[in-house]
Amino acid sequence: MKLSERLKEAGLLKQHFLCDGQWQAALSGTQFAVADPATGVQIASVPNAEAADATVAIDAAERALPSWRALTGKQRARTMRRWYDLLCESAEDLAVLISAEEGKPLNEARAEVEYGVSFVEWFAEEAKRIDGDVLQSPHSDKRLLALRQPIGVCVSITPWNFPLAMITRKVAPALAAGCTIVVKPAEQTPLTALAIGELALRAGIPGGVLNILTADSANSVLVGEVLTGDPRVAHLSFTGSTEVGRILMRQCASTIKKVSLELGGHAPFIVFDDADLEGAIEGALSAKYRNAGQACISPNRFYVQAGIHDRFVARISERSAALRVGNGFDPGVNIGPLIDAQAVTKVQQHVDDAIRQGAQLVTGGKPGELGFFQPTVIAGVTHAMVMSREETFGPVIGVARFETEAELLAIANHKEYGLAAYLYTRDLARAWRVAEALEFGMIGINASAISNEVAPFGGVKQSGLGREGSKYGIDEYLEMKYLCVGLQ
Ligand code: ADP
Repeated sequence: MKLSERLKEAGLLKQHFLCDGQWQAALSGTQFAVADPATGVQIASVPNAEAADATVAIDAAERALPSWRALTGKQRARTMRRWYDLLCESAEDLAVLISAEEGKPLNEARAEVEYGVSFVEWFAEEAKRIDGDVLQSPHSDKRLLALRQPIGVCVSITPWNFPLAMITRKVAPALAAGCTIVVKPAEQTPLTALAIGELALRAGIPGGVLNILTADSANSVLVGEVLTGDPRVAHLSFTGSTEVGRILMRQCASTIKKVSLELGGHAPFIVFDDADLEGAIEGALSAKYRNAGQACISPNRFYVQAGIHDRFVARISERSAALRVGNGFDPGVNIGPLIDAQAVTKVQQHVDDAIRQGAQLVTGGKPGELGFFQPTVIAGVTHAMVMSREETFGPVIGVARFETEAELLAIANHKEYGLAAYLYTRDLARAWRVAEALEFGMIGINASAISNEVAPFGGVKQSGLGREGSKYGIDEYLEMKYLCVGLQ
């Protein structure tokens, strides 16, 4: 079925990019294809922006800034609330676009929409609460104030794995703060981004406040250079690989931009002997197989204590083997395709490496057609194996056995990654002790669905800088200004 026929409103399928409130072609006139990862079939084509398009988009964001910034928080909140309502009304179409270009099962896409729009609702509310401070002055003839003001023109570069939520989590706080923004979505998933833009226009978000540039992989590098190099841009928010995060941060250094980064995770999932086994299994299955394991907070290292290890491996293998892999639009499918053939090759390499080094394949282990990969459980994983050191980003549960808490802590903390960690135990003292010793930005204790709009999302070490969502997330888009008022 054609994508437009799946949509209730075909008008949400945009094949131009959004700049200055207008749907436009690239200056070069070129386009690139968007494919369905489940079938490999082209579903749309969108403009292939180049460096000059990026400059035009920054021009538009710069022009739109003074009037958007000048609105009261309450006025911005009202417009954003309308945007939220329209996103909710089009939730099903947005879910269809996500499944079509990203591949995740439709139910998961619906959950992403619900999660993603919650940031628009939340930050619309927060727009009214951007407060400053009156400080107690050490001098009787001076009054001291701290104001919080929008940082200015922002740019966002976003990944393909959550085509809606990774945009709303950045754009909503930026707009609430009074900033304008240029977004460059991932080349694999531009359609959801453009639909979000259409709904923003319909909600009355003024032209130039939200601009969305689409570009293929090669042109994304050129567009990225302009977005991170233009001195008029004050802030970069990026979600993606640590490697690209480093490049973009370096590019931002020449003009000292503020950067917010959400990078690789490589999360440990820790199960102690005293854990509720079924709770841990449910948590592991949902966290690991969501989006076929392609999430930065997806557990990538499973450490299970010796006393519960064999039961955990047997049970999770049985449950994994029962999951259905297939096209995200087919009813009953639990796991969709990986994003592309390269992703499948990487997962296969991690599996093959583990087996070559002595791990045991308990279930799965093989790719299907196109981008599909079977849910896989491997036991006997050691530190020497690639999957212990690098993110697999696929539906693979590699289990390592540990004996003591001290041994666990020595392996669970990672010198590079520090995004999320999960631990399962019924011992309250142990839960506190281990959670405090784990060097990660987010910890799930007997819980694996940890992210929501109220919680601060972000990592430590090389997993990122700054926080998204929550009452803290808007700080990334604000500058503090100090006023000293003399009373002579
Ligand atoms: P992933 O490995 O998840 O595909 P990437 O970090 O490669 O993540 O990509 C995330 C986003 O960063 C995408 O929008 C992609 O187009 C963009 N990107 C990748 N490399 C660069 C680069 N050198 N400069 C600017 N943007 C880039």
